[in-house]
Amino acid sequence: MPAFPHSISSKLPKVGTTIFTIMSRLASEENAINLSQGFPDFPVDQYLIDLVHKHMSAGKNQYPPMAGIMSIREQISEKMEKAYGVSYDPESEITITAGGTQAIFTAITALISEGDEVIIFTPAYDCYAPAIELVGGTPIYIQLSSKDYSIDWKQVKKVVTRRTKMILINTPQNPTGAIISDKDIQELIKITRGNDIVVLGDEVYEHIVFDGNRHQSMALYPELANRSIIVYSFGKTFHVTGWKTGYVVGPANLMVEFRKVHQFNVFTANGPIQYALSEYMQNPQTYLGVSEMYQRKRDVFISAVNASRFKLKPSKGTYFQLLDYSAISDEEDQDIAVRLAKEFKIASIPISVFYHNPVQNNVLRFCFAKEEETLLRAGDILTKI
Ligand code: GLN
Repeated sequence: MPAFPHSISSKLPKVGTTIFTIMSRLASEENAINLSQGFPDFPVDQYLIDLVHKHMSAGKNQYPPMAGIMSIREQISEKMEKAYGVSYDPESEITITAGGTQAIFTAITALISEGDEVIIFTPAYDCYAPAIELVGGTPIYIQLSSKDYSIDWKQVKKVVTRRTKMILINTPQNPTGAIISDKDIQELIKITRGNDIVVLGDEVYEHIVFDGNRHQSMALYPELANRSIIVYSFGKTFHVTGWKTGYVVGPANLMVEFRKVHQFNVFTANGPIQYALSEYMQNPQTYLGVSEMYQRKRDVFISAVNASRFKLKPSKGTYFQLLDYSAISDEEDQDIAVRLAKEFKIASIPISVFYHNPVQNNVLRFCFAKEEETLLRAGDILTKI
């Protein structure tokens, strides 16, 4: 089609297609094992699928309420109470979203204005900065330590100004698999005390935390909970990333603003799926065993690459494992990721794309949300590289 002759000034001139789409497409073209974009390759609980069918057959096929059906918000409220000891009002403090990305975009759009600054930690998940820039805000980048991806709070203190409107905390962290500690929480409380900074908690991997560690939710700490919008994802917890259903919790004054945007962004999220999830969640066992299941998968993957030349520090949360390839090659990570997909038929995610400044840290991200058989095959390939 001939291009429309007028020039268009791009609102995101530096943004291309997300790395997850690029690498998944390459994996499929190359017929490679796809450990790039994060999604499970194992079946969903048949009972959950039957529940969706049941509610669709029962006629639950029209718009649910804008903030989500009441029964699922009540289930979520109960979960927040049991898991984090905090009470969120289903009526005014919980909203169902069309997945985590929509929730993050909506929260940023609702709360950030021209000239506001948002602190984000790099390597950062790729949807944060574009959302901030689209509303005229400025992302302020703090690089996590290259050793263990921890936060240098002295640096954070230095960049907090009157313009700081939000700090975005992603724990467990994608792409690194790091988690924040109690000490980090204490620093965050100190930095935000006495000012109006909002915390946006991206906690979509809340149920995937390993080695007996506790997920440090913003919801656990009253001083943080009352200034936080926290984002969660059913896709990650119930292995249904394609259902694009998640939710946010937060104090009513923030939620009012969130919903003002949400109602014109998607209006509401998929109805029958909400009915199904609401019934499914009544049994907490459906989500309480998820960490254990993924820890086994992490360990299978780690032992499968044990004899390889890749080096690693075990992931502490999420379903991602970073592998350091510096003993194999000094290629840029984006180049080696493409080469491994083409030559060795295994796809991963180069993590330099999640930094603001150019870095050369020689690590690739692999998703281990896979059948054991897939992980062992991947291990065999990686051991030959
Ligand atoms: N969260 C997924 C990942 O990190 C990707 C989701 C997406 O492709 N937008 O791999």
